[in-house]
Amino acid sequence: MNFEQLIDSFDRKHLWHPYASMLKPLPVLKVKEAYSCTIVLEDGTKLIDGISSWWCMIHGYNHPVLNAAIKTQLEKVSHVMFAGLTHQSAIDLGKKLLAMLPAELDTCFYADSGSVAVEAAMKMALQYQVAINKPYKNNFATIKGGYHGDTFNAMSVCDPVEGMHTIFGPSLPVRFFLPRPEQKFNDTFSFEHQEIKNLREFFASKADSLAGFILEPIVQGAGGMYFYHPLFLQELRKLCDEFGVILIFDEIATGFYRTAKPFAMDYAQTVPDLICLGKALTGGTMTLSAVVTKHEIAKAISQATPYAFMHGPTFMANPLACASACASLDLMQQGNYEQKALHIESLLKEGLEDLKQNKLIKEVRVLGAIGVIEFYDRQNVAFWQEQLCARGVWLRPMGQVLYIMPPLIIEDHDLCQIVDSVKAVLKLM
Ligand SMILES: *Cc1c(COP(=O)(O)O)cnc(C)c1O
Repeated sequence: MNFEQLIDSFDRKHLWHPYASMLKPLPVLKVKEAYSCTIVLEDGTKLIDGISSWWCMIHGYNHPVLNAAIKTQLEKVSHVMFAGLTHQSAIDLGKKLLAMLPAELDTCFYADSGSVAVEAAMKMALQYQVAINKPYKNNFATIKGGYHGDTFNAMSVCDPVEGMHTIFGPSLPVRFFLPRPEQKFNDTFSFEHQEIKNLREFFASKADSLAGFILEPIVQGAGGMYFYHPLFLQELRKLCDEFGVILIFDEIATGFYRTAKPFAMDYAQTVPDLICLGKALTGGTMTLSAVVTKHEIAKAISQATPYAFMHGPTFMANPLACASACASLDLMQQGNYEQKALHIESLLKEGLEDLKQNKLIKEVRVLGAIGVIEFYDRQNVAFWQEQLCARGVWLRPMGQVLYIMPPLIIEDHDLCQIVDSVKAVLKLM
């Protein structure tokens, strides 16, 4: 394959790619088509996708069932406003989603992207506090190392160092940041730990100003792929109840079996007041997100001025996206995705085990269908991209981390090729 041949000159000159420079962009490769776990480039080169197009492509590309659902919906109605109107796909999706979630979470608000779901969830928490006559509870807390999206309030709760605070900081609301939970997923941990005491102290001193506490349960994604202990969430739940703080779980990345549970919160058996869903919700075909909350919160907001939740994106509950999401949830129910993710977990654990001896590598960790190689140093994206593409694999390092997060339907031999290619590139370093 020839990188230069795969770069489109119009694209290079006029299209701005994510987190990219218009002057010195890294190579952006032109895709011709994609199916299952394979991305086919313009020159015919095939790449095995090891990152599911940023967590979303859980059933693989070009899935016939998702395609059929979208086509059927397209013939009926592709879009209709959700104010004053509704449609069958939104209703069906609501039923399917609520059936997957704990019973207390029974009210679903659709939005059009993950970041917007986070904005909507934060607004719900604020409106709730106003509704119950606690308007002074108007700030948010989170833990360091999180990622919640690129819009302003979402950015305000992203990691203050690795996130975008350096440049946008002066324009962002100032939030409370607790340390990232020190206790890792597999550590032994108890409620007597200092970390828990610190959390309690923080609530005791600051809860009066807090509308909500937002975090990614168990797995922090784009903020560094860190796995922390479920007990932290259990304690947080107790404190939020005690101090009247709305607990928001951002499961946009972790939801829908990525961690080998339907939702990462299932490891902690803890139910938030609000959950944000997105990314894999539609099976990766198009954008859709949702905030699901408790009746008690919806009721409080609806009983106080302005007697409504003040949010409503144009493409809220888009029928094509809802139809795809319905089909995606059906595939998950029928396909034993928990088992699929556990199988990927065991292959990744086995495959990455010997990297623990590598001197460049600080830690190797695996949870569900997420394999993480954390280096001591920041990794060179261009180097990894070129070397892995030459071996038929699509991965992109992020800071000090190289992660493998394949579509959940990946075949063993494809996953082995990903792991072997990573090892082959490591030998060059
Ligand atoms: C990707 C992501 C978001 C933002 O979703 P977009 O659809 O990109 O706006 C929010 N939270 C988490 C945890 C994410 O991984």
